[in-house]
Amino acid sequence: MKKVLPLILLFFSTGCGQGVPELSHAGICDGYPAWDTSSYKLPWPVGISHEVSQGNCGPASHLGAHRYSYDIRMDIGSSIVAARGGVIEKFEEQYDDGGGCDELNYLSIRHNDGTLAKYLHLTRNGVLVNLGATVNQGDSIALSGNSGCSSGAHLHFMVLTPDEKDTVPITFSNTTSNVRGLISGKNYTAQ
Ligand SMILES: [Zn+2]
Repeated sequence: MKKVLPLILLFFSTGCGQGVPELSHAGICDGYPAWDTSSYKLPWPVGISHEVSQGNCGPASHLGAHRYSYDIRMDIGSSIVAARGGVIEKFEEQYDDGGGCDELNYLSIRHNDGTLAKYLHLTRNGVLVNLGATVNQGDSIALSGNSGCSSGAHLHFMVLTPDEKDTVPITFSNTTSNVRGLISGKNYTAQ
């Protein structure tokens, strides 16, 4: 009898996803690709270190469809490089740092598998590339800032599915081990 109860509980808790209501708000962050063969490199130059101020699945704002986002603490004007090559699809750079939530400077890069990288909170006139241009991984693309809904200068980096309705889990090949992506509060050096 002792072994029957856990099996019944397992059956009910996995049957329809209602067994873990405490996780449904933040979502579950899983399914990371192997970091050492990842298609992505850290979006800052080789030799530079930055701290991750918020990783995946919260706690503050990286929830729901945005759960695989990263916030990277960066002084205004820090160099941002392409985490992966692609085509510059869209950008905005007209707003001052410290403005309102609808005053967001950003840059989008479409990758060859259809996914879309977004680099948010750039500084005014912080876009260094032209619309429609093709960039390679590691190319200098933008300068960080504090525009839009941002409490403190940082880069928000995320990769969206081709339909742009969800984020995808990302690891980075040119830094220390990041089996489950980058972790809040840790510093990472681009190698
Ligand atoms: Zn963020």
